[in-house]
Amino acid sequence: MNITGHNSFSSCRFCEIQGVYSQKHKHVYFPSKGIYAKKNHADWLSHLNEIEVASNPKEKKLLIKKCGKYK
Ligand SMILES: [Zn+2]
Repeated sequence: MNITGHNSFSSCRFCEIQGVYSQKHKHVYFPSKGIYAKKNHADWLSHLNEIEVASNPKEKKLLIKKCGKYK
């Protein structure tokens, strides 16, 4: 499915929740409250396309971190 692991910043398969990294515990945590937009197929394809056409590895890595997908 080309998604990042369960400990990544955008690891939920269903919604756009973003994790917060704890330096102290060396772990990504997710807020327990809030309503987050559901991921949809069009956004999924759009993110994959953005990652695929990224011009340099640094930009690609940032997009993968942001979107939780890779290609
Ligand atoms: Zn979610």
